[in-house]
Amino acid sequence: MTSSALDVLAIGNAIVDVLSRAEEDVLARHAMVKGGMALIDETRAEEVYAAMGPGTEASGGSAANTAAGIASLGGRAGFVGRVKADTLGTVFGHDIRAAGVAYATAAAADGPATARCLILVTPDGERTMNTYLGAAQHLTIADIHAGEVESAAITYLEGYLWDPPPAKEAFLAAARIAHGAGRKVALTLSDAFCVDRYRGEFLELIRAGTVDLVFCNEGELKSLYETADFDAALVALRGDAKEAVVTRSEKGASFVTSGAVVSVPAHPVAKVVDTTGAGDLFAAGFLAGYTRALDPATALRLGALAAGEIIGQMGARPQRPLIDLAREAGLL
Ligand code: ADP
Repeated sequence: MTSSALDVLAIGNAIVDVLSRAEEDVLARHAMVKGGMALIDETRAEEVYAAMGPGTEASGGSAANTAAGIASLGGRAGFVGRVKADTLGTVFGHDIRAAGVAYATAAAADGPATARCLILVTPDGERTMNTYLGAAQHLTIADIHAGEVESAAITYLEGYLWDPPPAKEAFLAAARIAHGAGRKVALTLSDAFCVDRYRGEFLELIRAGTVDLVFCNEGELKSLYETADFDAALVALRGDAKEAVVTRSEKGASFVTSGAVVSVPAHPVAKVVDTTGAGDLFAAGFLAGYTRALDPATALRLGALAAGEIIGQMGARPQRPLIDLAREAGLL
């Protein structure tokens, strides 16, 4: 195996996040499930956008957030995801490159508009997401460049992009290329409802070894094994996955294999301002440590540090370089 040019190549939905604060009653009036992620069409996107107060627009998307977090930790990250050649597409491309992530996916000349995620943050810091996927769903195998995948130590796939069949094919092609080059493949389960839609396929990917490293939170893990019993679900995951990282909000996170469980507490957070991106940034911190061959406990601590930083601010992109925080904490 040759040395890698990228630590992580993340593949997922290229989304512009539109973020604003909202009172609880706005969620109720628009029939939103608090804390969830609902897929919406363009009409509903316009309706929700109109109901939102002033906010910010920046590049987002789960895997893209992870790539940006890795770059902020001094890692070498790339991103593959599709936008349209429209205004939001330009915002996305500029933003992600400015975050230090290599991004070369061609923008679509026609078809649906660039994806956007309308995020309402309630006073308790919880985020509720409404996502119009538009152009992001049209990722195909043609967007996967073998040389780029081969050059990455880890190819990181976002479960949210398992809906459209051509994107699924693109994922499977990327996984084959990565494994052919002796690299690893990671998958984030993304969302409990997403797991509900693809439970059988995700389990198959994990059990067949198409995925080497799984990322999930407690809700996704329980959904994967259709149980309310966390411990039972963890035992099942350890039987199926080669390696996995399970996050548990304020209860911290664990790295598990069939033979070992390593756990760390959550990083202390003075005030939870906005939980958008907690899981994404946890994955970033963990992967930044993992690809530097740090021990699992240190990699988990980097994850907790990055996640703790992101939930203490608005938005899913760190406002301070995470590498500085990691150095201050003696983790890098
Ligand atoms: P997701 O964003 O995928 O729902 P979690 O809620 O499990 O993921 O959070 C991921 C990580 O973010 C946790 O492991 C922890 O490090 C951090 N985190 C999340 N919520 C809190 C919290 N309330 N206090 C401290 N840390 C938290």
